[in-house]
Amino acid sequence: MTQDHLQSELKIDASRRFVKKYLGIIALLISLVIVTVFFAFNAVTSNTIAQQFEDEGSSFFNEIINVRLWLANHGGVYVPLETAGGVNKYLKDIEGVDAVIECGERKYTLKNPALVTRELSESTLHGDRLKYKITSLNLINPDNAPDAFEADALRRFQQGATHVTTIAEMDGKTYFRYMAPLKTVAPCMKCHAKQGYKVGEIRGGIAVSILADDVNKKIFRARAFMVLGGFTVIALVACSILYISRHFIKDLQAAQDTLAEMAMTDAMTGLYNRTTGIGMLKKEIARASRNERPLSLAIIDVDFFKKINDTYGHCVGDEVLVALARMLQNNIRECDMACRYGGEEFLIVMPDTALKDAFVSVTRLLGMIQDAPAKTGKADVTFTFSAGVAEVAVGEEVDDIINRADMLLYKAKSQGRNQV
Ligand code: GH3
Ligand code: MG
Ligand code: MG
Repeated sequence: MTQDHLQSELKIDASRRFVKKYLGIIALLISLVIVTVFFAFNAVTSNTIAQQFEDEGSSFFNEIINVRLWLANHGGVYVPLETAGGVNKYLKDIEGVDAVIECGERKYTLKNPALVTRELSESTLHGDRLKYKITSLNLINPDNAPDAFEADALRRFQQGATHVTTIAEMDGKTYFRYMAPLKTVAPCMKCHAKQGYKVGEIRGGIAVSILADDVNKKIFRARAFMVLGGFTVIALVACSILYISRHFIKDLQAAQDTLAEMAMTDAMTGLYNRTTGIGMLKKEIARASRNERPLSLAIIDVDFFKKINDTYGHCVGDEVLVALARMLQNNIRECDMACRYGGEEFLIVMPDTALKDAFVSVTRLLGMIQDAPAKTGKADVTFTFSAGVAEVAVGEEVDDIINRADMLLYKAKSQGRNQV
């Protein structure tokens, strides 16, 4: 590998690292944006849904308070005893309150706001979708005892909380729970004064529970869709970037290979150029010396080439050179190396070959050239070459062996050309 080739290889490696690094960073940034958008959207959706639940809980709570106030303002409501389901035992001892009244033939019993709230809450009209419950830390009716969330909320109302919300499991289902305080108003005092309450004081609370299972399922589906979509986009971006970088690096590699080949070969004949040929000869000399094997070299020069150029023109001259190069390449051994040494001069390096065998080989090549004229666009050109062949002696360097082969070439020229 030449120094230039090595340098361009290093540059390509650096470009490859650059492309991988920056495309990797771009892929990472896009992934980060997608993940951030996902979390932001998720947070916004969760907040919106929580707010929606809270608004629904608050509206329902206000509706119950509205009914209770109406009842309290009218002192409760009397209903026929036969459909009332019994007399409210908690009203019996309250002074000035008639738990049961008679009107003609029929008896009526009083339903106070607390009882109406409780009985309405037991209605099956809402199914599992909506539940509510009146409760207090200071109970008259023990059936209205608070659960853990309600008890905690009631304590927080004492400390000033206006409402408390939570998500909780109830009867194996997930509910959004909203609870707000029940404040004592003047009409309540009739029944609750003996508990020591004053107007404005918090007497208890109403807990509204809204089934969240359906919404949760929808949220889960939407999130799964978003995660899937996000991963698909990330995968597509990663694949595109991988494809682009591979493509880019492949093109870069191909360009580098072409450049390397161009740097090593002679454009016209396709043989190795002089620099590569000399480099290879140097290596072969070292190898031959190391392995104590023979190594021979031939320098070939076309005879009277100027005449060919003058007779047929430069283009035909070029074609003759290309034909000679092809003939040399096709007829040397695989381990031999041919290069274009100069204008119409070629060099053949023959590893593991002693002088005698090298002489025979090059003579054979000369015979082939004599027998087969170069077919060019204009004419079939018959030509010959002269060659100097030498075997590398112990301790000889590149310049020494080339000089020796060159001297022998000129000897062949001076002895009449067309000879080895
Ligand atoms: P000799 O037998 O003594 O070698 O005679 P020659 O005419 O070949 O003389 P010489 O080797 O000095 O000249 C080589 C000529 O080859 C000179 C140059 O114009 C020509 N030449 C060198 N390179 C090219 C080339 O790439 N194409 C063509 N067409 N001609 C070239
Ligand atoms: Mg010459
Ligand atoms: Mg010549």
